[in-house]
Amino acid sequence: MNKCKKLAKNVTPSSRAKQFEREMFHVVGELMFCSACNVPVDHLRMNSCEKHQTTSLHQQKKESRQSPGDKRKKLQAAVVDLLGNQTKEKLQRKIEMIDLVSVLCSSNIPLHVLDRAPLRTYLEANLSGMGAIPSSRNLRRNYLPKLFELHVKDLKELLEQSESVALVCDETTDVEDRYVINLLVVPCVVSPKP
Ligand SMILES: [Zn+2]
Repeated sequence: MNKCKKLAKNVTPSSRAKQFEREMFHVVGELMFCSACNVPVDHLRMNSCEKHQTTSLHQQKKESRQSPGDKRKKLQAAVVDLLGNQTKEKLQRKIEMIDLVSVLCSSNIPLHVLDRAPLRTYLEANLSGMGAIPSSRNLRRNYLPKLFELHVKDLKELLEQSESVALVCDETTDVEDRYVINLLVVPCVVSPKP
């Protein structure tokens, strides 16, 4: 009777993900993501899930990413944690922005390079889910603090899992040439999560 009904409202993201092979989809909050492409897929429609797997972009990503990005999954989970559940598009965009800021910061590339038109145009055209990239000022004001929060949270988690830590102290100078104490906390043994 209802066999042709395509919208299955009772299907949860995780129950839909379980209908496919492991590592195909993963769930973050209320959303189901394709693990290879890292884009949200409509879990309510089986047809959308199957169709997504046949797209050439998905095939390419699947081949190029042998192991799905654990780091990326963690980022998605952390962003949902931090910002709460949002629409797929908003969430995807925020993840892209935080990821972009994270990549630039960790590569020691100043954010103002994004204000240069050629790079901006290239990234906007080639990164899926990116849309228009905000100005570096906007990224610094709205995304960098969030990235910082995530980083601190990551560090806390890492230290919580550590059975012991080593403290390494040294003195150094700051940007204004003042002496400061430099304290490194090094986790020694990381116990596996229960
Ligand atoms: Zn995919």
